[in-house]
Amino acid sequence: MNDHELAGYLADLAGKTLLELRSSELDKGTNPWMLRDQGDKVSHNLLVDALLQFRPNDHVLSEEGTDNWARLEADRVWIIDPLDGSQDFPYAESVEWAVHVALIESGEVKAGAVTCPSLGRHYVTGAGMKAGPRQNQELLVVSNRWNTHQIAAVAERMGAELTSCGSAGVKASLVIGGDVDVYIHGSGLYEWDVCAPVAVSRAAGLLAFQLDGSEFEFNKQSPVVRGLVITRPELSESVHAALNL
Ligand SMILES: [Mg+2]
Repeated sequence: MNDHELAGYLADLAGKTLLELRSSELDKGTNPWMLRDQGDKVSHNLLVDALLQFRPNDHVLSEEGTDNWARLEADRVWIIDPLDGSQDFPYAESVEWAVHVALIESGEVKAGAVTCPSLGRHYVTGAGMKAGPRQNQELLVVSNRWNTHQIAAVAERMGAELTSCGSAGVKASLVIGGDVDVYIHGSGLYEWDVCAPVAVSRAAGLLAFQLDGSEFEFNKQSPVVRGLVITRPELSESVHAALNL
C-alpha cells in the first residue's frame, strides 16, 4: 500500500469499527459519556497499532495520545483524529462525526483520508477525486455550531446563508460533496482537526487556507492552526473580499 492507500484503508477500518462499537454499545445501554471515551480510545489504539505495523519508522501525533516531541525532528508524521466530533458520536441518530488520518512530510500534507461513517462518505488523496457539482441555488456557508457574529457577517457580505454542524471532517465533506459552498471556522483549531480535511479538500480541487489567508504549517511544537477556510475555487475572490484579505 502506498501512503494514500494506507490513509484510506486506516480511516475506513476505524470508521467501520466505530460504527460497530456504537451499535453494540447502544444495544447494551452504555451511557453516552462512556461510549464517547470508548470510541476515542478504540479508534486511537487501532490506528496507532496499525501505523506501527505498516510504517514502523514514522511518528504519530494523535488527539488521544501523549505528544512525543521526537516528532519535531521527524520527516514523516501521521497526524490523526481518531474520532472527530466525539460529542455527537454516542447518539444513534447523529451523523456528525468522522475519522481523520493524514501524513505530513517536511511540514506539508502528503496524503490523507477523511471518513464520515454515518454519512457513508469516504475521501482519500491520490484517488483522482473531484468535488461534486453545487447542489443549491443559493450560496451556503457552513461553520461550527458556536459560529460567531464574525462568521455571520462574513456570510452576509458574500450574500450567503449560514448553516452549522459538528465535525470539521463532516464540514469538509459537505464542501467536497457540493452540499455547501464554503466552510469557515472562525477560531483556532488543532492540527488533527485540520490536516486530513485539508488534504482531501485539496485533492478534490478545493482551496484551503487559514482564516488570515496564510498557508498552513503542520507538525509544529504547538499543533494549532489559525482557523480554517475551505472553498470552491470559483468563490475564492468573494471569500477573500468577505474576509477582508
Ligand atoms: Mg477527536
